Amino acid sequence: MFVLILGAPGSGKGTQGKILAERLQLPKITTGDILRAAVKDGTPLGQEAKKYMDQGQLVPDTLILELIKAEVSKPEAKNGAVFDGFPRTAAQAELVDRVLGAEGNRLNHILLLDVPEEELVRRLMSRAPVEGRSDDTPEAIKTRLAVYQRDTAPLVAHYAQRGVMHHVPGTGTIDQIAEDIRRIIGR
Ligand code: ADP
Repeated sequence: MFVLILGAPGSGKGTQGKILAERLQLPKITTGDILRAAVKDGTPLGQEAKKYMDQGQLVPDTLILELIKAEVSKPEAKNGAVFDGFPRTAAQAELVDRVLGAEGNRLNHILLLDVPEEELVRRLMSRAPVEGRSDDTPEAIKTRLAVYQRDTAPLVAHYAQRGVMHHVPGTGTIDQIAEDIRRIIGR
C-alpha cells in the first residue's frame, strides 16, 4: 500500500507519517530528511540543496527527480511506503505516478492534513529553538508557507479527482489525528 501524506510545513506530516508507517510496517520516505542528511554529509547534492533549503525555497526538480526515483524504486519499498514531503511539484507528482505505475502500483490513499495558517506559524516558530533547523528563521518559514501555497497546494486539485484523497483535520491531539487516519486507511 502506498500512502501519501500531504500538508503544509508544520501540519504534522512527519509525526503522523511515522506513526502510520510503523503501524503498517512500511518504510517512510521523507525527502526533507534525506536532503538534511546530504547537507550534513556534505555531498554534492547536499551542498547544492542547502542554498535553497536555508531560504525556504524548494530544491529544484532537476536535483530532486532522480532522488525520488531512486528512493521509490528501492526494493524495501516494493510492497508499499509512506511518502512524506514529496511530491511537492507537478513534475514530482508525474514522476511518482510513472515510477509506481511501472510496477503496477499507484497511490492508494492520499491524506491531506488541514491546519489553519496561524496555527502552522505558531508551531513552526515554537519548534524552531528545539529542532535547530537552519530554515526555521521567520523569513524562511514565511517563504516555506508561501511556496507550499504556490507549488504544492495545486496538487490537491490534481489528486482530488482520483477519489483517494481524504481531508484530515490536523488540529486535534496527535492520538486523535492518528486515530482518524487509522479509520480512513482501515488498519
Ligand atoms: P517542511 O515541510 O516543514 O518545510 P521538509 O523537511 O519537508 O520540511 O522540507 C525542508 C526543505 O527541504 C524544503 O523547504 C525544501 O527546500 C527541501 N525539500 C524537501 N522535500 C523536497 C521536495 N520534494 N522537493 C523540493 N525540495 C524539497
